[in-house]
Amino acid sequence: MDEGKNDLRLTRRSFLAAAGVVGAALFLKANAPAVAAAIAGSDKKLVWLRGSGCGGCTASMLNGGDPDVLSALEKVGLEPEYHDEFMLQQGVFVDGSLSGSSDHNSRIRLSELLAGGDYVLVVEGAIPDGPEGSGRYCMSGAMPFKQLFTEAAPGASCIVAAGTCASYGGVSRLFRAADAAGVAFGGTSRLKGAMSRYGVDNKVINVPGCPTHPEWLLLVLADVLSGRDVALDMYGRPVALFGATVHDSCPRRGAYDRGDRDNEFSGGNCLYSLGCKGPLAYADCPTRRWNGASSMCTRAGGPCVACVEPAFPDAFMPFFGKSESKELFADLAVDDIAKVVIGASAIGAGIHAVKRLAIGESGREEKGEKK
Ligand code: SF4
Ligand code: SF4
Repeated sequence: MDEGKNDLRLTRRSFLAAAGVVGAALFLKANAPAVAAAIAGSDKKLVWLRGSGCGGCTASMLNGGDPDVLSALEKVGLEPEYHDEFMLQQGVFVDGSLSGSSDHNSRIRLSELLAGGDYVLVVEGAIPDGPEGSGRYCMSGAMPFKQLFTEAAPGASCIVAAGTCASYGGVSRLFRAADAAGVAFGGTSRLKGAMSRYGVDNKVINVPGCPTHPEWLLLVLADVLSGRDVALDMYGRPVALFGATVHDSCPRRGAYDRGDRDNEFSGGNCLYSLGCKGPLAYADCPTRRWNGASSMCTRAGGPCVACVEPAFPDAFMPFFGKSESKELFADLAVDDIAKVVIGASAIGAGIHAVKRLAIGESGREEKGEKK
């Protein structure tokens, strides 16, 4: 294919130029076995659509990985053919020419890709149904995003929901009139997910996080392309990445166990009394770390806000204070949600911590005294 300047297809060169990708971390070094297993020869197409969200998951993806994200995608055998954020609405006119072909018009290009089928579909952002069922709170070109999603989903060999908005509705769900849902879940409920709403039935893997971690996404894509069955938890997340709580391996866990809790920031002890939701958040952040494996929330001094959980953000506010037993979603209280989030499994101090987060702690701790 000609890589001329009028060509809007996402070639390696055009993608790098559009995105300004900065490569800088340890993706391949840290995950060589998983990537090597996937290299074995897929040349699947990647279609990336963006619904209601801030674009942070795309930004996170672009900032992660050594080599850069496009090289990583190439190594796992995935060809990025379409990305909403970089290509949306391009090609009405190009260099004075009418845009009558897929080389010049991104929407024609997308239509051709969807007609061809057998692509990996990454969805970023939630899928609003509002106002009043029109879906017009999130438009993609001249089309409600929910319509684009229902056109794109059936032909996908696998759908990967990137980030908490796409997985569960996330922050987008907070604006009630938008009636936004994740791909397969709306909060903790499958019945409220976009697929169930619109009668779509596909394999979906949720890779939550606000934003999602670039390595989580790349590893899941590598697994999908290698044909391996990805074991998922009850909320559709890969168990290998989201099977243990942040609290389990937190660098401040020793302080928690000793009862050394900080009541002001910058103290260096456990952040539980400052609102940390690490006992409720299932993700490998402490061992994987972020930003080139340099740090993560609790290591950097910020409480975990449980950004990977289906009930985020509602159930975990206030972020920088202890949760209270208050009603959410009309008839569901935070302690109920906490139980749903943690499911039936009590891991380590999990249930104990859930109870504390939900109903408050002893008077001694309320006064800032150590146990
Ligand atoms: S409560 Fe938060 S800061 Fe404290 S040990 Fe657990 S995860 Fe770390
Ligand atoms: S530590 Fe908690 S808030 Fe921070 S990225 Fe991980 S799950 Fe999200």
